[in-house]
Amino acid sequence: MKITKVDVFRLRACEMTSNQPVGCRIYTDTGLVGHGEAGLAYGIGGTGGFGALCDLSRMVIGKDPLDIEMIWETFRKTTFWAMSPGPVMYAAMSAIDTALWDIKGKYFKVPVYQLLGGKFRTKLRAYASQLQYGWGNDYEGKPHVWCVTPEDYAHNARLAVDEGFDALKFDFFDRKPDGSRLPFYEETGIIPNAEVDRVERTMQAVRAEVGYGVDIIMENHSRIDALGAVQLAKLAEKYRMMAFEEPNPPTVATLEYIAQHTDIPLANGERIYSRWGFADYFKRNLIQLAQPDLANTGGITETKKICDMAHAFDVGIQVHVAGSPLVTNAGLQVEACIPNFVIHEHHVANRQRTAIGLTLYNDQPVNGYFEIEDRIGIGNEWLPEAVEKKAILYKMIE
Ligand code: MG
Repeated sequence: MKITKVDVFRLRACEMTSNQPVGCRIYTDTGLVGHGEAGLAYGIGGTGGFGALCDLSRMVIGKDPLDIEMIWETFRKTTFWAMSPGPVMYAAMSAIDTALWDIKGKYFKVPVYQLLGGKFRTKLRAYASQLQYGWGNDYEGKPHVWCVTPEDYAHNARLAVDEGFDALKFDFFDRKPDGSRLPFYEETGIIPNAEVDRVERTMQAVRAEVGYGVDIIMENHSRIDALGAVQLAKLAEKYRMMAFEEPNPPTVATLEYIAQHTDIPLANGERIYSRWGFADYFKRNLIQLAQPDLANTGGITETKKICDMAHAFDVGIQVHVAGSPLVTNAGLQVEACIPNFVIHEHHVANRQRTAIGLTLYNDQPVNGYFEIEDRIGIGNEWLPEAVEKKAILYKMIE
């Protein structure tokens, strides 16, 4: 089997957001097609990811798509920049790698999890994520509440729990009382007591609404720094949070400081790339819930290896997905087969227009759990009409 061509695209998910997934389709002389995504749909850098993906696609024309490990290591060792992991190159590598695994699953007519070790469980616990952004079905929908007050947070927690979720995630330190976004320079350094009190009142309101039988992850999007993280970690301990996610921009030295000052399990990984990126954090026990992003850490190949390395340090896993529903399905393939899976993040954006009309499936958890589907390959694909109608960048490499 040989790769004949690759098309690369960046899609405008919908009119109302800047969400622009970067994807590819790898074509073969057998007619099998693999689908992949580079995890740069949001933030700044997607144009670079598109370009890197075009460059890597030229390297795989004529190659056997089953030789995944050789192709991955060739990217790492011969592209100059991929020797040291970073988001743009590794997102592009992830897209190719995911598409190759999709082809391999289709070639052997099995779901990818069968090729990675087989099904470890039949369903996957999920948490309702980023509830501060609402829990409606559409950003324009009336039930949607963008949280400002403690009552807003309690309201959205109730919506998710009533749907059957027993695990939630919030960023409790996100907005000013007037509803505007906290600027980054007001989130760093020592957090003023009045702000710490405001976070505490919000946690109290959520706990009063859903009790302690619900697990809650406290998220900070790496926006605060180590000093503020320790202040908020004390609240996370008091209100028995399940984990503290991205307490600060991750470095080994600052996480050592945070870990020395809290007993809360630390979750991290969407901004840490590849085995080489995670190794030092695991060796120093600075991550308890690892969140490698399948679409920017190096694809299915690399995510599985990070998960296995984490297992050696008793670290649990939530595979992170910075992209469209296509990556969700790729993430579920890995989570289905690893012993150290803990929980899957179901982001509010996956229920909304940013995720609709791009892919054949947009799977949703039922009663807080994802079923593991038996579809072959990664279990999802780009819709041809989405590529035709929503592409703001497009290149065919052959
Ligand atoms: Mg996060």
